[in-house]
Amino acid sequence: MTKLIHLDKEPIVVDGKVVEYLTPDVVYVPFPRKKEDLKKEKEIKKGSFLYPNFYAPISGKLKKIEDCLLPSGKWVHCLVYENDFQEKQVGGKATRKKISTLSKEEMLESILDTRLKEKLERSNPSLLLISGIEDEPYIENESIIGQNHTKMLVDMIEALLSIYPNTKAYIALKNTDSKTIMAYQNILGMYKNIEIKFVEDLYLIGQEYFLTKYLHMKEPYLFLKVSELYELYLNIKGRKPLTETFITFSGNGCQKPIVIKAKIGTKVTDLFFKFFKEDLSNCVFFVNGMMQGKQMDLNYLIVTKDLKGILMMKKQMRKKRECIKCGKCILLCPKHANPLMAYQLNRKITCMNCGLCTYICPSNIPLYQYVKEDNE
Ligand code: SF4
Ligand code: SF4
Repeated sequence: MTKLIHLDKEPIVVDGKVVEYLTPDVVYVPFPRKKEDLKKEKEIKKGSFLYPNFYAPISGKLKKIEDCLLPSGKWVHCLVYENDFQEKQVGGKATRKKISTLSKEEMLESILDTRLKEKLERSNPSLLLISGIEDEPYIENESIIGQNHTKMLVDMIEALLSIYPNTKAYIALKNTDSKTIMAYQNILGMYKNIEIKFVEDLYLIGQEYFLTKYLHMKEPYLFLKVSELYELYLNIKGRKPLTETFITFSGNGCQKPIVIKAKIGTKVTDLFFKFFKEDLSNCVFFVNGMMQGKQMDLNYLIVTKDLKGILMMKKQMRKKRECIKCGKCILLCPKHANPLMAYQLNRKITCMNCGLCTYICPSNIPLYQYVKEDNE
């Protein structure tokens, strides 16, 4: 296995209490990849199906179509809905049944995310591996969801254990994440088949491939992130789709790092102006983190399920120098690729967009930009 490394980072403490922004004036619904999937509803109710894996986050009326920016950096047309603040809703009420008494079929029927549904459908695990680890430095969503919704997550794990007989569950947590460890330890005494697995604070350890290798897992397993468990619980217990998501705002340019629970489709600048007083011109913004994210302008960026964090970093000059041929970028690449081939020879390389080559380069060469561009 590739030797993973610990990242040196300035300590930044994110407030453990989630703040909410659930009443945006408007939401932006991005056009789906297959345009034929889109129904241009003039009026929507909260929770109504708009296209596969996208459900209306508010109730309101269609106002216009506008172009917006996705966290991936792509521009898309969006339907802009004005919030009527009436929260008119479609869909059933939360089930009164204990979810651990539901059959596998009953659970599958209520899962709305197609990828999650397929994952559960085709699994026949003897172990559930739950990752409560966020790899990106300064993004804390998986820990904060764990701390704020411990009981609900553990109930969901118990329910999954009941549909896969003779299984046990591991919750993998970084051994440095003391608050989250304590939150789970406080209730796990009652659950004999659920165990915490402590892992070192190494970059990429939260990824399925590296985590299973680190834990020497040989048995068939089902891998889920804590945020996926949260979504499953909403679908199965709440009988509702995910219409809100968690976003960490942090970085050395952010005075009070926080996690915001916001409606999908909200403009990121609405969140910024509501919760922060920082001067936008003094910072650069990395969307979805320093290692794997992209530096972007926040204007026109919208909240999607894929938006995990906004990193506000003080502007600083990192002078790019000549390559000194130290080979560190090649040595550290988890894909055993050669980022220099992309940088110097414009060659395509196999890349998982982890950003390690840029992080390690003593000459401050933004290798990541070259390898990413090659792979897009
Ligand atoms: S970003 Fe790509 S090339 Fe660079 S270290 Fe990661 S996998 Fe390797
Ligand atoms: S880490 Fe930077 S300086 Fe070293 S070989 Fe790679 S590109 Fe060159």
